[in-house]
Amino acid sequence: MTTFIAFAINIALFSVFPLYATTMTARFRNPALYAYMGIILVVGGLAGAIFSFPLTQNTFVSGGNLAYGAFMMTAVMLIISERNMITFRNMLRLLILVDVFVYAGFNYTAWLLDSGLVTKPVPIPSDIFNVSMYVLLLGGTLILIEIVLLMIIFIKARRLTSKLSNLAVIYTIAFIAILCLDGVLFPVIALNSHPELTRIIVGNVTGKAIMAACYSVPLLIFYFMSRKQFAEFVGSPLPLNELLRAPRKKLLDTLYQYELRDRQSQQDKQKLREQAETDSLTGLANRGKFNQTLDDQWQICKKTQTPLTLVIGDIDYFKQFNDTYGHERGDNCLQRVAELWRSTLENDVELAARIGGEEFALLFPNSTFDEISARLQTFRMKLKEASISHEASEVSTQVTFSVGVSSVIPNDDLSIRDLYISADSNLYRAKNSGRNTINFEATP
Ligand code: GH3
Ligand code: MG
Ligand code: MG
Repeated sequence: MTTFIAFAINIALFSVFPLYATTMTARFRNPALYAYMGIILVVGGLAGAIFSFPLTQNTFVSGGNLAYGAFMMTAVMLIISERNMITFRNMLRLLILVDVFVYAGFNYTAWLLDSGLVTKPVPIPSDIFNVSMYVLLLGGTLILIEIVLLMIIFIKARRLTSKLSNLAVIYTIAFIAILCLDGVLFPVIALNSHPELTRIIVGNVTGKAIMAACYSVPLLIFYFMSRKQFAEFVGSPLPLNELLRAPRKKLLDTLYQYELRDRQSQQDKQKLREQAETDSLTGLANRGKFNQTLDDQWQICKKTQTPLTLVIGDIDYFKQFNDTYGHERGDNCLQRVAELWRSTLENDVELAARIGGEEFALLFPNSTFDEISARLQTFRMKLKEASISHEASEVSTQVTFSVGVSSVIPNDDLSIRDLYISADSNLYRAKNSGRNTINFEATP
């Protein structure tokens, strides 16, 4: 295996977790990304002292540098998915918290290793854990400056273009440039009088450029996979003056406005969804909703091996009703019948629908015909009590109803169509045997 492949594998290893985290819902995504940044800072503190990848003769990328790259990549993912100036303040807190932990924890571990108070199953040199406050402070400050620069570029670039692919290119270039800048600033500040400073900077910048280019791959994948969030980031108001201090009231107001808008749009969506599933004349479920529910319940009953009962009903001589009393009274009649039809339901999984002009259906999951037949009788009784005149009917002086019922425990040898045809032919038989009756024959 070549050094470069080993290096690329390390990059991939550091990218999988944050990339996966960005696919989770915001509730988990943001905490997961912050947690990962904390972990990677600690890992970086250790890996920096343990190994380096010699990419060319003069170019070394240390384990610590790799972790720094992963930190910056995750920061970009957070800036874009969180879409809030609070991201920077959170990162500031995180850096302080983790650096204090690393400084105290690592130095304490170094002291412990040399103290003779602990046993050491593996011989570990305490040097690994000797971290200097100066390096931690410098590293942390540079990271914060770089994140601010990235945020400024990200926010300003949105004015140049709103095309996501263009922005992805600009952000990638900015990401690589900022990491290269770190390659210059760190040695300039940390080793300002070193005799070989220029050579170190060149090696450092080359390493950072290669590393940044590698981390750009998961970032590009992120821009693509999370393009919805990316598009929302482009449209979000992100006032740069709130980088360090958010006007609390304004922030709360904005959040409240967002929440209001969100709630309203959820309600609108819910309303539209309900409208699309409802028959406008009767308020019962419409044919589309009925088909969908039949499909769903068929699958559920098949899995649980419970009966599914389908009832189809049709008003007798309704054409004559319209011809006699007019369409408007016909509509009123449909509404009254629908109301009574709905009253047969006893729970949320049962459904009453209008599936045609004067044709209605009922769906009873988990019930046999025997278990619901009394409810159908009650429906007929109530219809009789409603006593809607129908002088033109050939079976009565008031509106009557014919019903066909079919019931099955769904299995692989049967289809939804079989159930439907069976209920429909039972309705046909009810019509042929004089109407105003309920006809049931069990489906094999
Ligand atoms: P059968 O007893 O065999 O069911 O006879 P029918 O007259 O009820 O059946 P047919 O299918 O011949 O006629 C159905 C009638 O239902 C035709 C149409 O006038 C009426 N209809 C269908 N949709 C509506 C509606 O939305 N409003 C009204 N008022 N009438 C409708
Ligand atoms: Mg009819
Ligand atoms: Mg009909």
